[in-house]
Amino acid sequence: MSELLQSDVLVVGLGPAGASAAEAAARAGARVIGLDRKEQAGVPVQCAEFLPAMLSDDAANCSLRQAIAAMQTSVENAAPDLTADFRGRMIDRARFDAELVARAFAAGADCRFGASLANLSADGVATLSDGTRVEARVIVGADGPRSRVGAAIGAINRELVETRQITVALRAPHDATDIFLSAEIVGGYGWLFPKGDVANLGLGVAPEFRARLKPLLDGLRARLIAEGRIGEAILGHTGGAIPVGGMNAAQGTLGDCAVLLAGDAAGLVNPVTGAGIPAAVISGRLAGAAVAQILSGKAHSYSEDLEDLFSASLARALARRRELLAKFECGKPDERDLRRGWIAYPEYWAA
Ligand SMILES: Cc1cc2nc3c(=O)[nH]c(=O)nc-3n(C[C@H](O)[C@H](O)[C@H](O)COP(=O)(O)OP(=O)(O)OC[C@H]3O[C@@H](n4cnc5c(N)ncnc54)[C@H](O)[C@@H]3O)c2cc1C
Repeated sequence: MSELLQSDVLVVGLGPAGASAAEAAARAGARVIGLDRKEQAGVPVQCAEFLPAMLSDDAANCSLRQAIAAMQTSVENAAPDLTADFRGRMIDRARFDAELVARAFAAGADCRFGASLANLSADGVATLSDGTRVEARVIVGADGPRSRVGAAIGAINRELVETRQITVALRAPHDATDIFLSAEIVGGYGWLFPKGDVANLGLGVAPEFRARLKPLLDGLRARLIAEGRIGEAILGHTGGAIPVGGMNAAQGTLGDCAVLLAGDAAGLVNPVTGAGIPAAVISGRLAGAAVAQILSGKAHSYSEDLEDLFSASLARALARRRELLAKFECGKPDERDLRRGWIAYPEYWAA
């Protein structure tokens, strides 16, 4: 007979969104079960590890790899344009995620790894891959871009970017995030993000162009080797999907069970930059606070709060992304189009 667990809250996914939600809900006195299919928090890393300055957090301090002062954007093969004072931090993402989970544990959440949600019934009963069933009054779906919890309430990330990333040695210290825009990189861009003596070198494209990922990344790597900026050795590989279609409806119900979505599951990633860590942490905390309201029978404003915080910037980014993709439909975007589609340029911010 399979085990049946009962809890106030089930948090599915213990990345930045889920761990933050679990901590906030547990601090508010809720009984929380959190689960993640990974064996270990944050491992493997599927991230370029740049944390924009908008999120200041202790977890970021203890996972700091280096400070970032500026951004350099290269359009096609032109010399880079410098955006001074574009600050942020490069973090050790595995350490960052582990720190957030440690806080959730310390707040009293029962966080389980190697535990995968296999099915969510129409009345909100979760079945894990080992057959364990979990009944909770509230479910927080923080299970990333291809969220099963989101799918159960009809909130699906329909637009994704596929990525490929390698770790390389840096030949000289660098304190800027480098961005590479090109008409060859359809629906995405290339990046070189420094972290001490190594860097994350990666590229993202619209899924129908995924066959281009390897040759494009090989080309960018060859260019940076020829420029003397990086070493030849490839020290690691990663990748993953990024949701770029904008916000989903972030709440719903399954029978009597309330469901909230946070982070990537809620589509809170910037559709142009692909940055989603700050929104994951912030939405996770808000979801945890909303859980406490739900459990005490009070009204909450979770969806409205997300709208207030994120909808304007996500809507602009989504509009810019769609404009640029439309250019690909009638040929190729030119350099002006690429600049309008990137946050470093005034054209991006113009009406
Ligand atoms: C290559 C790449 C580079 C990126 N670079 C950056 C960057 O530099 N800066 C930035 O801000 N953002 C970046 N992002 C985006 C950022 O990583 C995400 O926005 C962020 O991780 C969202 O956090 P989350 O908690 O919502 O989801 P995730 O971090 O994806 O966490 C979801 C968790 O749910 C778990 N899970 C999924 N399904 C199940 C299941 N069925 N059962 C149990 N557990 C499950 C997963 O194992 C995972 O741990 C990048 C993304 C990619 C792919």
